[in-house]
Amino acid sequence: MSYWINEDNVAGAPGTALFIILPTIGCYRFRIGKACYMCAYPAAAPKVRWAQDAIVGYVREALGKIEGEKGPFAVRIFTSGSFFDNGELKPETRRRIFEILAEKKEVKEIVVESRSELVRYNAVRELAEIAEGKHFEVAIGLETANDDIADVSINKGNTFEEFVRAAEITHQAGAKVKTYLLLKPIFLSERDAIEDVKGSILKAEPYTDTFSINITDIQKGTLYERLWEKKEYRPPWLWSAVEVLLWAKRRFPEKRILSDPVGAGSKRGPHNCLTDYDRVIGRAIKKFSATQDLSYIENLKPECRERWGYVIESNLLDWQLIMW
Ligand code: SF4
Repeated sequence: MSYWINEDNVAGAPGTALFIILPTIGCYRFRIGKACYMCAYPAAAPKVRWAQDAIVGYVREALGKIEGEKGPFAVRIFTSGSFFDNGELKPETRRRIFEILAEKKEVKEIVVESRSELVRYNAVRELAEIAEGKHFEVAIGLETANDDIADVSINKGNTFEEFVRAAEITHQAGAKVKTYLLLKPIFLSERDAIEDVKGSILKAEPYTDTFSINITDIQKGTLYERLWEKKEYRPPWLWSAVEVLLWAKRRFPEKRILSDPVGAGSKRGPHNCLTDYDRVIGRAIKKFSATQDLSYIENLKPECRERWGYVIESNLLDWQLIMW
């Protein structure tokens, strides 16, 4: 089943998030052969279309997961594509899903994802009206505010300007904006990757309520995987993630800064020296994300930090590294 719960930040307070991957046909960019280079999610989408009624039923079923759990709850809906793509979900289906969620008092936050070009005022507005009183966020995959990196290293097919347009529409329609940023697109050194996220946060901040720092993990069948196999790409160091999160939260304490380091401490996920302590750092990042309390990531043991410091200082590229 593609739904699960996790401790997470719910509208600014610690709580429980229910994650649901809706069985839509997935991202249209994947279907036209233009998927983002790091992304394999749409490959797992159903090959045969589910009936829209069945998708609504799936949401009801997933909500069973939070029964008896301690609130408050956030419901984060992924579609391996875009919630506002009418080819994935009919407007009527979106409304029905929101009506179900609106009835649940303990659900304080609802997040859906969309590519920039699919965000339309009317579509967001009608859902904001249904979800009135709840923290309703539209998550947009900006990845980077640098259009060249978005093109060459990610194949995003969107520009920063398109993101700004989508974010402004979202705010005008009464919802909040979550901005996804990718820590470490391919072809960037570790140091440049850190600078890219920081620069992107500075540029996107006026349009953003929540930043989600998505730390690259190696997904199957992607260009990132091919480069990783050839030792030309390494997922970011956990110390880089910590550096970005500390900087972002100190600089913008009023913004939510979230991160879920998938596969932390494994070769395919963000890692330092692949010791047990990597997993401790991964858990500390999750704790920080859920609570927004910097002390979880401020007082970590500096294990393997010297080696990371050398990589940053020397601005080494991944293929120059001996130790991965
Ligand atoms: S990251 Fe988003 S937009 Fe890019 S291919 Fe994956 S689902 Fe589509």
